[in-house]
Amino acid sequence: MQYKIALLKGDGIGPEIIESAVSVLERIAAKYGHDFYFTSYPIGGCAIDTVGVPLPKETVEGCLASDSVLLGAVGGPKWDHLPGDLRPEKALLGIRAALGLYTNLRPAKLFPALRDASPLRADLIASGFDIMIVRELTGGIYFGERGYRNGKYGEEAFDTEAYSVLEIERIGRAAFETAMKRQKRLTSVDKANVLETSRLWRKTMHQLAEAYPEVTYQDMFVDNAAMQLVRNPQQFDVIVTSNMFGDILSDEASQLTGSIGMLASASMGDSSRGMYEPIHGSAPDIAGQNKANPIATILSAAMMLRYAFGLSAEAQCIEDAIDAVLAAGFRTADILGNSKTDICSGSDMTGKILNAIG
Ligand code: NAD
Repeated sequence: MQYKIALLKGDGIGPEIIESAVSVLERIAAKYGHDFYFTSYPIGGCAIDTVGVPLPKETVEGCLASDSVLLGAVGGPKWDHLPGDLRPEKALLGIRAALGLYTNLRPAKLFPALRDASPLRADLIASGFDIMIVRELTGGIYFGERGYRNGKYGEEAFDTEAYSVLEIERIGRAAFETAMKRQKRLTSVDKANVLETSRLWRKTMHQLAEAYPEVTYQDMFVDNAAMQLVRNPQQFDVIVTSNMFGDILSDEASQLTGSIGMLASASMGDSSRGMYEPIHGSAPDIAGQNKANPIATILSAAMMLRYAFGLSAEAQCIEDAIDAVLAAGFRTADILGNSKTDICSGSDMTGKILNAIG
């Protein structure tokens, strides 16, 4: 099969980790007889430097003309002084909106070989955990009306959260469908004891639940969910939540797995074209030093094969190769834990994974 893949390398470690993922995809293409055509487009700080805006029109058009999009990361101190609309991170919101990507899937799975790297006590994660966080991506407070005004105590800033029934229904449906493909357990996280948007969220989820009698559904307040994730993560299968709550909870869940350098994500909409990216940022502190763990980006590429192209065997091949490399004791610095092994560079780790793919 032939697929056009848009590469958005971005800033910091972005180019290094995308290069690793591309070499893995090329190995998979050779092994399984596919043709992947890669085209790179600028995004974030590097786009600001070259074209003056974080999300150039050609980048959006290139992504729309591709079968899928693989993103590294954007941002860095060089662009931190810029006003909100011109910052690299603005490109992320823009590209998600332009591609209609309202569902963000963030798996948080403990790799058995990495138990040592988790900050949780061994007895709390003895039987591992495998959580899929389904985060709403194009609505809520990150997209609502905002500004400055004169308030009771003088100048104040405000951001507003709004959710329509349509937005809640489509993310809810994506979450129930995801649960149907897993252990059929869904937790919807909200703050319905305080927020009106959460009350509508909860009511809409309850209506959807009637169409999925096989899914065991529960509501949970976000403060409790944050606590339960560190108390007993294995109780969760799929979690669905709003944009901001999902942003925070998925970072918390990611850290439970040991390192932010291990976690992939998929952003999807109504078409099969999605955007696949690691959940970490551009890590300017280690950029250009060959220290970045490429696994989150390689796992993102595996998610792309599975969800965008329906290539499950190829995705599984990548995931098995990563399992094997970790089980053999190879570690980048971020996942070293108590391991006594030599530290692998990013390119060493990529080479081990390529060898394991065969
Ligand atoms: P970060 O995720 O870039 O880094 C946090 C810490 O994790 C750093 O110590 C970093 O070295 C480490 N780390 C991250 N990825 C790693 C990897 N693959 N291997 C090894 N270590 C890794 O978060 P930050 O420092 O808060 O943000 C840096 C920049 O990235 C900021 O400009 C921020 O806005 C941006 N950012 C971008 C995205 C994105 O593009 N999706 C997401 C988050 C942050």
